[in-house]
Amino acid sequence: MTTAQAPLKAKDYKSTIPPTWCPGCGDYGVLNSVLKAFAALNLDINNTVLVSGIGCSSRFPYFVKTYGLHTAHGRALPVAAGLKMARPDLEVISFGGDGDGFSIGGGHVPHIARKNTDITYIMMDNSIYGLTKGQSSPTSQTGMVTTITPYGTPDNPVNPLAFCLTYGATFVAQGYSSKPKIVTDLVIKAIEHRGFSFVNIVSPCPTFNKVNTFDFYKDLIEEIPEDHDTSDLQAALALALKAKEGQVPVGLFYQVQAPTLLDRLNSIREKLDGSDDYDISKIIEPYKP
Ligand code: SF4
Ligand code: MG
Repeated sequence: MTTAQAPLKAKDYKSTIPPTWCPGCGDYGVLNSVLKAFAALNLDINNTVLVSGIGCSSRFPYFVKTYGLHTAHGRALPVAAGLKMARPDLEVISFGGDGDGFSIGGGHVPHIARKNTDITYIMMDNSIYGLTKGQSSPTSQTGMVTTITPYGTPDNPVNPLAFCLTYGATFVAQGYSSKPKIVTDLVIKAIEHRGFSFVNIVSPCPTFNKVNTFDFYKDLIEEIPEDHDTSDLQAALALALKAKEGQVPVGLFYQVQAPTLLDRLNSIREKLDGSDDYDISKIIEPYKP
């Protein structure tokens, strides 16, 4: 959402609270890239709300000078969706990590995606629970030794990109915290997109994840070829499934235009125009004291 606000620079979106992340955390790179994206869009500080869950990356709203909601673990998306439905004029952007989004909050993602709720969801994926000191997360590789899995995690990892694609997200992308230009570009596109935008950003946790380090990703990160057709769901899924071979494609996987949840509700309202069928006061009348 752009406004008549005087053009702002990335630093103008910084709050007075300095980030509390560990030195070397990938989330610093994500924050800097996001601030640049906000400046490029000249996002209205007074009409932008960042909504997060719980975890290291969910501290994001503290460090940005917009409105912010630091909600409960895994509940960022329903809060963000409710806010957008009540105030469609606001720019609503959700932030969080892999544990918050795909374990505790995993039941919410499919429904926000299939409804094409017009919010942006930026997930920082470090394949570990950082804030609680290093437990395996839904995106940890099978066999990963962590503080709660001394013999290696027995679980298969979730593939957040394939997950969102199959549940009908209309914008799916992946970035890497050490590729700031790509992250800024993807965040701009995600915010501009009408509908549910999911951006998975691989963001290493050097403190607790000693497997998926910056060195580990050095040769695995590959930019999506320019001839990739972003309207082709099968091609996007094939890219997403490259994770099984250990590859990490970055760029825009998929983008299509489709009616948003609010578009569909508004068309129902139009059909009911002149009728008082949806007048909530009639429904609650019998229950009034
Ligand atoms: Fe970043 Fe990991 Fe430190 Fe959390 S614990 S701030 S994810 S480096
Ligand atoms: Mg995590």
